[in-house]
Amino acid sequence: MSILVVGSVALDSIQTPFGKVKDALGGSATYFSAASRLYDQVNLVGVVGTDFPQQHVQSFRDWGVNLDGLQVAEGKTFRWSGRYNYDMNTAETLDTQLNVFATFHPELPESYKESEFVFLANIDPVLQLEILSQMHRPKLTVLDTMNYWINYRKDALTKVISAVDIVLLNEAETRQYGNTFSLIRAARKILSLGPKALVVKKGEYGAVLFSNGGELTDSFFFAPAYPLEKIQDPTGAGDSFAGGFLGYLASRSSTAMDDIKRAIVHGSVVASYTVEDFSVGRLGSLTRDHIQKRYLDFKRFTNFEPTCPWSEGCPHLANHDTGTESH
Ligand code: AMP
Repeated sequence: MSILVVGSVALDSIQTPFGKVKDALGGSATYFSAASRLYDQVNLVGVVGTDFPQQHVQSFRDWGVNLDGLQVAEGKTFRWSGRYNYDMNTAETLDTQLNVFATFHPELPESYKESEFVFLANIDPVLQLEILSQMHRPKLTVLDTMNYWINYRKDALTKVISAVDIVLLNEAETRQYGNTFSLIRAARKILSLGPKALVVKKGEYGAVLFSNGGELTDSFFFAPAYPLEKIQDPTGAGDSFAGGFLGYLASRSSTAMDDIKRAIVHGSVVASYTVEDFSVGRLGSLTRDHIQKRYLDFKRFTNFEPTCPWSEGCPHLANHDTGTESH
């Protein structure tokens, strides 16, 4: 299977309590590609300016990412500048310079149109719609966005949400879009527009899956984040989560709910590496071996067997399909 991603390729300037970088390789499509290339072939669509360093182009090539859809336009590359305080879950945007993004219109190379897994990374929802309209029949489409587009392009964003299979949002964006404090109500609102699942990223507190239909108990899944002693820079956690998530599904060629749950764990594993360094410092050199190790750790962290503490027994547990004895 191949994966198509459209999103930003950026030069980021970031400050965290643990250091800072200037004009480092970043962007939603960059983090996504650096993660998903560990699972499958990635076809990237985006734009950079003539100032984009050749060494970064080489990084994409080293990761095996197809750059036929990367336009080089006259002008400067998109730049984003952000700061994190000790609450590393929330970025404060200091500056956004759209530069070549301001006039960008994605054009899909013919070979990209057959990609079966599509990730519409965080960019203007109008451009996300342009991509969808050019695709042949993708097997799975996934959308990410940010508060900026909820504020300024809500109508276009609603159209994209209605057209995709899965939506990835962080907690604040979910509440903002749903216009309610209750994550469950906000999730219901989003799912009522058409997607079959919503994944809410909760930073260091993990990720939650809401799927369409049935009781909450049948349509809810939760995975924690990997416990880390050292975090350097959370930038790209969301996009690399998406890379592990969609990469796993593409490699399995699956859209089944059980695989979507495993995909959330893959997303969490990959994101846990991303935040250990600035830019793609850690993510760029990651191997499948690293992923397997933390994937198994997740199983250990979350696995428990139900047992019964009461002498009269626990009929609910006994009837449960784990096969565990009631006492
Ligand atoms: P995240 O995974 O949410 O931490 O995304 C981080 C990346 O999003 C950074 O590398 C930025 O370059 C990129 N970014 C920030 N603002 C925007 C925007 N308005 N449009 C597209 N990409 C953005």
